[in-house]
Amino acid sequence: MNNKLYGHLIFELSRPGRKGYSLPANPFGDYTLPSSLRRETDASLPECDEMTVVRHYTNHSANNFGVDNGFYPLGSCTMKYNPVINEETAMHPGFSGLHPLQPASTCQGALEVYSRLQQALSAITGLSEFTLNPFAGAHGELTGLMIIRSYHERRGDHQRMKVIVPDTAHGTNPASAAVCGLEVVEVKSHADGSVDVDDLRGLLDDTVAAMMMTNPNTLGMFEREIPEIARLVHDCGGLMYYDGANLNPLLGACRPGDMGFDVMHINLHKTFSTPHGGGGPGSGPVGVRKGLEHLLPSPRVTFDGQQYDITTDSDALSVGKYLGNFAVIVRAYTYILSLGREHIRMVGPLATLNANYIKESLKDLYLLPIEGLCKHEFVFDGLKDKTTGVTTMDVAKRLLDYGYHAPTIYFPLLFHESLMIEPTESESLDTINGFIEVMRRIAEEAATDPDQVKTAPHNTPIGRVDDVLAAKHPVLTYKQMQQQ
Ligand SMILES: *Cc1c(COP(=O)(O)O)cnc(C)c1O
Repeated sequence: MNNKLYGHLIFELSRPGRKGYSLPANPFGDYTLPSSLRRETDASLPECDEMTVVRHYTNHSANNFGVDNGFYPLGSCTMKYNPVINEETAMHPGFSGLHPLQPASTCQGALEVYSRLQQALSAITGLSEFTLNPFAGAHGELTGLMIIRSYHERRGDHQRMKVIVPDTAHGTNPASAAVCGLEVVEVKSHADGSVDVDDLRGLLDDTVAAMMMTNPNTLGMFEREIPEIARLVHDCGGLMYYDGANLNPLLGACRPGDMGFDVMHINLHKTFSTPHGGGGPGSGPVGVRKGLEHLLPSPRVTFDGQQYDITTDSDALSVGKYLGNFAVIVRAYTYILSLGREHIRMVGPLATLNANYIKESLKDLYLLPIEGLCKHEFVFDGLKDKTTGVTTMDVAKRLLDYGYHAPTIYFPLLFHESLMIEPTESESLDTINGFIEVMRRIAEEAATDPDQVKTAPHNTPIGRVDDVLAAKHPVLTYKQMQQQ
């Protein structure tokens, strides 16, 4: 690491008159912009030589932790695997060179991929038909709720405005219901995060539009009462919405359509290996059960047995003019094809096995509030020994010293020291054993040398950040920094 280049902003490396570019001669001859369109003073851009720029950004990128550098046991965000073959197919010129307004007759192959992913998702989930239009999980939730709203409205059931959401739900669930103009009603959970069915019974009446659920729930526990819950909600005229952002524990094991769900979304960027995080392009396909297909939004891809077409119906719902993030769709379809029908069945069982193996290997040192078989993820409530003063935050920071990304911390809010671990299906036994060993070593350090853990990280380019200060007074521009 070149320390002189590290820790500086590119602006601080600027020297007047230096440059690393040479522009080609202007083939259009002399042309001067009218003065009304020109700046009065030059933009204050950094002036650097080429190598300074290359090293500056390369060093920064090397300080980033990602799935391609190391183990990433973050819970509730599933996919931490971005296969390189996905990038190759997404970059195919026939896909990457498409124009959104291109006639359907000139992009039959792309539309076939689109349609085949829709079919694969139907087969995997047990729902009848999918739209790939939504751009994210939350966008999928909104789309699904708009479908549900329009279902009730078309039946003249205008009073159905209530959406029941468990108190353990992902924050986007109540937010999407509110954005859709629906009223959020919370249903209580038991200590293990499962829905309190007695509490649910008291909430059901003819104003219920839908119940939104995640199964396995946020604590990684499978909802055993799901057939009864679906029956109760359907009997009162409501629909069942499934939040399938993290579908991998179910792949090959069971299907939301068979559990009684009517509408669902999937995050391709969590379950089907498309890159995730940093606000990058996402995709939140929405599926509906048989009988609700006509409510899916327009535009849609259709097939008459010979030709694919893009159809637009001005009376239908719309959540955007285009057909979603196509490069993400290509990646997800590549992943599904790479596994194939046979191997995709292994995803759920392997994700479950890996999570349980870690849980059982660490529960003598970390406090396990909910015993029993988990699915793809589980939650510890900090270290078991509460006398050391070492918190979940300290453990997370110390993991960085050993080259591991931290698990999800302080979520869910059910426990004070939540440490939510999800290994996923794609890690080797050696990697998982390495993580277990480091977690055990940190627990030992907490007992013998707690200060070492409490002051971590020690090996990262930046030590412990004051996250309250960073959140309350973020310094986001260079100018502000100069003034301070
Ligand atoms: C991530 C997530 C969402 C939201 O997905 P975005 O693509 O981030 O909008 C919804 N529900 C659950 C359970 C999630 O984990």
